[in-house]
Amino acid sequence: MPNSTHLPLVYHPDYSFPFPEKHRFPMAKFGLLAEYLRDIGLLTRENGVRPGRSKPLWLNQTHCPDYLARFINREQTPQEHRQMNLPWSEGLVKRTLIAPSGTVLAAQLALHHGLACHLAGGTHHAQYDHASGFCILNDLAIAAKVLLHQSGVGRVLIFDCDVHQGDGTAALLKNEPRAFTCSIHCESNFPFVKQQSDLDVPLEDGLDDAPYLTIVMETLHQVLDRVKPDIVLYDAGVDVFRGDPLGRLNISEAGIRERDRQVLSELLRRRIPVATVIGGGYDDDRVALARRHAIVVEEAARLRGIRF
Ligand SMILES: [Zn+2]
Repeated sequence: MPNSTHLPLVYHPDYSFPFPEKHRFPMAKFGLLAEYLRDIGLLTRENGVRPGRSKPLWLNQTHCPDYLARFINREQTPQEHRQMNLPWSEGLVKRTLIAPSGTVLAAQLALHHGLACHLAGGTHHAQYDHASGFCILNDLAIAAKVLLHQSGVGRVLIFDCDVHQGDGTAALLKNEPRAFTCSIHCESNFPFVKQQSDLDVPLEDGLDDAPYLTIVMETLHQVLDRVKPDIVLYDAGVDVFRGDPLGRLNISEAGIRERDRQVLSELLRRRIPVATVIGGGYDDDRVALARRHAIVVEEAARLRGIRF
């Protein structure tokens, strides 16, 4: 039943699995995030929801089936393996096949409850038939298409505040007029060849909190007025943080918290369902990183009147 103090959190224990510690991709962060949210009382038996493996139909309507089969069966070409830039393992295949259904599930829960958070997701660089930027499958594009094709949703907005452009999402949804892609990103950062989102908002290196928040909120108002979405997928990437090794912006943790609070509260004010994904964050201090990813969940909980 819809319950205004209920905040579904979508998580699977296989999101983190044994992985090289020193790798640039912080695979441990998903488990650390769930552990932290359990410690502060936000992730409980009542609100934790576990996704299953993504349905093949969901994956195949967004990605090249042959590319997917080669990844699953460890038959990638050397070039594909290089583009993936992650060591292949059974664990990697497993988490990669679950995560998109986590974003789909968070979106479906958001349609019912108004707000839901996926404790992973935001793999927005993945393209139709190749991996990029540590992203193998594009959960945002996959979820948008499932919402439009299988869940009776009329219009989806992807509001991407990860520091890197959502190039894969833009390319995958280019011919889908019912999905609006908006990316607010550091222009000089990866990917160095940009795709065209429905709205791109390039930011200069070193931008700090006040102008950033103004840009994010002006952009949000503008796209909501224009698109009138039935649901928003919000990528709350924390690689905008000033200390992030892959960032280049100068946003404080307080600034990230303010961004998430303002974005979510505007969507709730307009009664637009929103599903959040955690997006990028690469801090070598994995515990600090997990806490930073928890910010969007904490702000969602506050807006729901949940004490923790
Ligand atoms: Zn990123």
